[in-house]
Amino acid sequence: MERERLVLVGAGMAGLKLLEELKAACPGRYNVTVVGAEPEPAYNRVLLSSLLAGEAGDEDLALKDRAWYGANGYRLFTGAEARSIDRAAKRVMLRDGRVIGYDRLVLATGSEAIRLPLPGAHLAQVLTFRDRCDAMRLSALARPDARAIVVGGGLLGLEAAYGLAKLGCAVTVVHLADRLMERQLDARGAATLRRAMEAKGVSFVLGAQSQAILGETHVTGLELASGEVLPADMVVMACGVRPNAALGRDAGLEVRRGIVVDDALRTSDPAVHAIGECAEHRGVVYGLVAPAYEHARTLAAHLAAAPSASYAGSVLSTNLKVSGVDVFSAGAIEAEDGEETITLADPGHGHYRKLIVRDDRLVGAILVGEASDALWYLDLIAKGAPLGPLRDDLAFGRGFAAAA
Ligand SMILES: Cc1cc2nc3c(=O)[nH]c(=O)nc-3n(C[C@H](O)[C@H](O)[C@H](O)COP(=O)(O)OP(=O)(O)OC[C@H]3O[C@@H](n4cnc5c(N)ncnc54)[C@H](O)[C@@H]3O)c2cc1C
Repeated sequence: MERERLVLVGAGMAGLKLLEELKAACPGRYNVTVVGAEPEPAYNRVLLSSLLAGEAGDEDLALKDRAWYGANGYRLFTGAEARSIDRAAKRVMLRDGRVIGYDRLVLATGSEAIRLPLPGAHLAQVLTFRDRCDAMRLSALARPDARAIVVGGGLLGLEAAYGLAKLGCAVTVVHLADRLMERQLDARGAATLRRAMEAKGVSFVLGAQSQAILGETHVTGLELASGEVLPADMVVMACGVRPNAALGRDAGLEVRRGIVVDDALRTSDPAVHAIGECAEHRGVVYGLVAPAYEHARTLAAHLAAAPSASYAGSVLSTNLKVSGVDVFSAGAIEAEDGEETITLADPGHGHYRKLIVRDDRLVGAILVGEASDALWYLDLIAKGAPLGPLRDDLAFGRGFAAAA
């Protein structure tokens, strides 16, 4: 019997996880073709900041080599962009003219970095930071003593700022909000992170709106809405990402911010699925790798004929080393009426810990500087069980609470 043809568009982290899960759950069941726009197979995108900072090499980013795809019967096209989908004929058209037929289609096209439409944004020294190609362009421009401005004080902006500072650039982060990572950190946590980054040589201008990038043929500066001009040789736009949903939208799939999927990661067309950052599930588009992997696991179970597998959403958590500083945030970041806040701060060591408890349950945690208990707190939030006697020693971490 002919095997069903499964076409995966997007050779990124979610796509590769799906292939690994399929290999484990139902090897050989599908005739799989992978179409990836980047020149290489999926790599560990999370490590791009370490690559930029010179703390990781290409070999650290590698996940599976081309031989792995071949050995598992996966046909891999790299440097190949899907341009459109004909759902009636079940075909994907590539930019280079090739046409690939499918029985099932999986979209795992990720996100693109947002480029603010500022005057001067077309200049060659205005960059974004999403893929390996961006990292290479950034490090080519980052001569020691170059003045770099990073627009955006979220996770990506801070990662880019740290990398550029490590390469010897004089880096200033310009951020619209009055604190860094305002969606993950409260004011004290953000201030702790800011101090740690200032100690690494990064400067900040907060509460500032970028108005124009200056320069005729080369970037010379960034003008703020206040009229202030910050001199610069390069500008990195790190002000968020947008799901790559156009392929789905143009094919007539339901798209809001991302491609809308149900609990089985199925789009409005049952033959088409979407996973990772391009997907929108119950109104949420995730921008982290853990939910993308959960999507891939659930979808693989469905494709392996386990229809009971269901995705119910992920607990929003961020657990990372921002510029060499441990940062963890999950659940609520500010207490509401009736909730308790427990804080522990050691400014001298750059440590800050805040926990939010509602009805004897942990509902939020922020850790800056020291985050070895992050997964323990995340588990407590995800389980939502009453804390009971744990409550008294909660702030001191797992080891202390276990001993007590
Ligand atoms: C610098 C950086 C640091 C990060 N750090 C962290 C971190 O510390 N923790 C964390 O959880 N997450 C982090 N992330 C986010 C994480 O990398 C993403 O959540 C994850 O990669 C999402 O996987 P994905 O497969 O949905 O998208 P991607 O990995 O982006 O893969 C999508 C792929 O689809 C391709 N594609 C798009 N359109 C088409 C098309 N039409 N045809 C063919 N191919 C197409 C793209 O080129 C890309 O290769 C970071 C991201 C960056 C950029």
